[in-house]
Amino acid sequence: MADILYIVVPCYNEEAVLPETARRLRAKLEGLLAAGRIAPGSRVLFVNDGSKDGTWAIIQALHRECSLFSGVDLTRNRGHQNALLAGLFTAGERADMVVSMDADLQDDVDAVDEMVERYYQGCDIVYGVRSARKKDTFFKRVTAEGFYRLMNALGAETVFNHADYRLMSRRAIAGLAQFREVNLFLRGIVPMIGYNTAVVEYERGERFAGESKYPLKKMISFAAEGITSLSVKPIRYITLLGFAIFLVSIVMILYFILRWAMGETVIGWASVICSVWAIGGLVLLSLGVIGEYIGKIYLESKGRPRFLIREVLEDADGKAD
Ligand code: UDP
Ligand code: MG
Repeated sequence: MADILYIVVPCYNEEAVLPETARRLRAKLEGLLAAGRIAPGSRVLFVNDGSKDGTWAIIQALHRECSLFSGVDLTRNRGHQNALLAGLFTAGERADMVVSMDADLQDDVDAVDEMVERYYQGCDIVYGVRSARKKDTFFKRVTAEGFYRLMNALGAETVFNHADYRLMSRRAIAGLAQFREVNLFLRGIVPMIGYNTAVVEYERGERFAGESKYPLKKMISFAAEGITSLSVKPIRYITLLGFAIFLVSIVMILYFILRWAMGETVIGWASVICSVWAIGGLVLLSLGVIGEYIGKIYLESKGRPRFLIREVLEDADGKAD
């Protein structure tokens, strides 16, 4: 028995690529249906993220033309991550497995086959990971790979070179729904859900048409969002820095006392310099300590689930023993 697949595609001003994307996704779904790998009722779900061009009109036309297409229209532009979430939750109510991908055909549509196979083998989350970035410009490649390294160093655990091309099962989406935080960074949250996961490699192509909606400025704020929403490690670095500077100041005090004893320094200079370092270090250290508490409050306020249960073994009458 095959399961229902939904492919969720967030779209913001994508009228240039949408017809081609729809054509390819339709072919993909029809192929999988014909092969019996997915059940009738499978769909492509476009999420219109408050586009200012004809994107929604195209989605409506596609839906009229073919029942394989459906759409969700957000009231205004809420950004890629929120659009994706809207699509995942909508699809999660209707599908057994949901694949999310960008509208610009940079994600290789053919990787869906392998993701679906992995799903049937028992994986709840399958990550699409770029095997190479040959087609990206040097600048994009360096900034993007630096992004993943920096993220991991600052405590936001993400899957290397994985964007938002992934398959999630219905219960994985139900798990995601329990993360109620508003500052959302899906790439960091999804690995927290757990379950069996797998990775499927694909080659990321160039944008088929239209322009990137992620210029450098948005990428930087996206990175900052990822780090600050997932981790309080930056605060810990402040604490460490304060501690290190304070240690340095102690060494300096000893050194200057020695110089002073040997009568080699200008009067007053050593004490001023030492207090600047010592007080600077102590201020940073105290800020870090206060920050640690704020970090705790921050994490508490997210109300994340402390665990998700995969399965409970119980008797037919419902009592576990
Ligand atoms: N996107 C969106 N809302 C936005 C910006 C982007 O839904 O505010 C969608 C966009 O239509 C595309 C995906 O997010 O399907 C990724 O955007 P893009 O391809 O421009 O990013 P890049 O691949 O250049 O990082
Ligand atoms: Mg793109």
